[in-house]
Amino acid sequence: MPKITEEVYYIPGQDELMPDAHAYVLGKPSSQDLSLIDAGLTGKGNYKIQSVREAGFELAAIKRIIMTHTHLDHIGCLAEIQKQIPWAELWMHQLEADLLEQGDERTVYGMDMFRGFCEKQFGLKKGAFKFKVNQKLKGGETLDLGGTAWEVIHIPGHSMGSIGLYHRPKKILIPGDVVYADYAIGRFDLYGANGPELKQSLMRLAELEVDILLPGHNQIVKGLPKGYILKTSRQWEPYLR
Ligand SMILES: [Zn+2]
Ligand SMILES: [Zn+2]
Repeated sequence: MPKITEEVYYIPGQDELMPDAHAYVLGKPSSQDLSLIDAGLTGKGNYKIQSVREAGFELAAIKRIIMTHTHLDHIGCLAEIQKQIPWAELWMHQLEADLLEQGDERTVYGMDMFRGFCEKQFGLKKGAFKFKVNQKLKGGETLDLGGTAWEVIHIPGHSMGSIGLYHRPKKILIPGDVVYADYAIGRFDLYGANGPELKQSLMRLAELEVDILLPGHNQIVKGLPKGYILKTSRQWEPYLR
């Protein structure tokens, strides 16, 4: 599990037939107060937990799991992880938390066709993603995660409750699936997605000074070029109306 900075560790997604989201571990190791950002695809729970162990962290130090959003490639193995660290709280944006608590899984699958495929592929049943959420985020909060400050930014468009986490002192942005390396952005054709909202969210992120970009998939970027998010947003503008 590569170390990005003193307070950020990276668990690369293990893509196979379908993508598995990257996970990140935030917090100073000495704090014994770590946060896992995103879980991953169904079946990847052991891999994620094993990665945390191999990095020398005690599982007991993981106090919470914070979801950037609740698509299957991020929340698929949440229950597997919860089984191994049942004390960890679950935090996510209110809009997606409310859906999951009601047993509404439309955001998890994004579209009905995909749902049918996943039910076959993974043997998932209705109700597999009914979770109790301990803290519902709105955006605008500053979280103290293991001795480091992370600002929560609500960035809908890829999904309705997508959040970004921003560590201002070291200019680190965790944008979920809103923006990636190589001028790519998240898809905006799934349930709860919205092109113009995604455009607004990208413009919101473009205001931040970002040096390290830690997206949900593909490459992570250190030394992000100045104006990168703005340029990405402009390239996609014609499609985000
Ligand atoms: Zn997504
Ligand atoms: Zn994803």
